[in-house]
Amino acid sequence: MKHAIRAERMFDGERECGGAPLVVIADGKIVDVDLSGARPSADLPVTDLGDVTLLPGLVDSHVHLGFDPAGVAVDLQHDAEDVMLERMRANAVEALRAGITTVRDLGDRSYLTLRVRDAGPEVLVAGPPVTTTGGHCWFLGGEADGLDGVRAAVTERVERGVDVVKIMATGGSVTPGSSPFHQQYTTEELRAGVEIAHAAGIPVAVHAHGASGIAAAVEAGVDSIEHGFFLAPGGPVVDWATVETLVRKEIYVSTTTARRPSGEPMAPVSVKVRENFARMRELGVRLVCSSDAGVGPFKRFDSLPHGIVEFGELLGFGTAGALASATSVAANACGIGKRKGRIAPGYDADLLAVAGNPLTDLKALLDVRAVFRGGERV
Ligand SMILES: [Zn+2]
Repeated sequence: MKHAIRAERMFDGERECGGAPLVVIADGKIVDVDLSGARPSADLPVTDLGDVTLLPGLVDSHVHLGFDPAGVAVDLQHDAEDVMLERMRANAVEALRAGITTVRDLGDRSYLTLRVRDAGPEVLVAGPPVTTTGGHCWFLGGEADGLDGVRAAVTERVERGVDVVKIMATGGSVTPGSSPFHQQYTTEELRAGVEIAHAAGIPVAVHAHGASGIAAAVEAGVDSIEHGFFLAPGGPVVDWATVETLVRKEIYVSTTTARRPSGEPMAPVSVKVRENFARMRELGVRLVCSSDAGVGPFKRFDSLPHGIVEFGELLGFGTAGALASATSVAANACGIGKRKGRIAPGYDADLLAVAGNPLTDLKALLDVRAVFRGGERV
């Protein structure tokens, strides 16, 4: 049934729009956006949300629904499937309540995320990340070695119907015995995976912390670098030549920096990582605000809005740029920019209403007044 939502203000995914917007919805899609302030026809049911700002539902391009933020990642190998599925559903609901209407799951076990696509937010699925034997997140079951191993692993994921392929180009900190500085795959191995995924129209997201792994992924033509901290033993050391190539190849960097405030001062490495991202933004890197929700106690599934606030305050994005980084830009990075991340005719009616105006104070994002998913109020 056709219905409409009225708000005081709107951010359409790119900019603020004045004039009491009226968003008309039918069959889960936005069919019209009227900024004229005109009275709608008498037979159109209107939900007037009052003094709120309407935004596109947020897109968190990096989560792990199967992870327990309070748990230990390596223990996931022992969890029963029904325990994992129940946790995934609860985590998905936590995200949705915070206005995150799309989550991209970048690493599960046994492709279980394919079974929670109806959990609330739209769930984009990677399945188990492709990693080397004993490599980062091996316990999720995605071990694959050499050119043939990578090709077979990516082919399997395409056949399973994933939305994105996730490959671990470097080690990571949540895996015992794995080092974030260590490069796991060669450029050729990464490229072999990229070719198969791209032939199927599926983007490739690559986990990379250390400079050599990031450079290999960029060289291989991946779609997004996840983390991209340029970690080195003494602290982050950015290879600016790689950053230049990133910009030229229009590869996204999904920062995974969003977290709930811990109450503690930020660690020097984290401060440096954010300074580097601010510089990358100035150089034209397409930065996406994302959370890596699930990997630690401050990485709850409602963390993303806190990261958006930080993008505005610490990374030099300003309010509109910060909001875009988790709506239109994030949707583009996930390959769904033609139906998510904007309030415009033809787009999915995934909407978030917050009190006040996040374009003057991003913290308004933390005061959620209404969430709509496919036109239905949550
Ligand atoms: Zn992750």
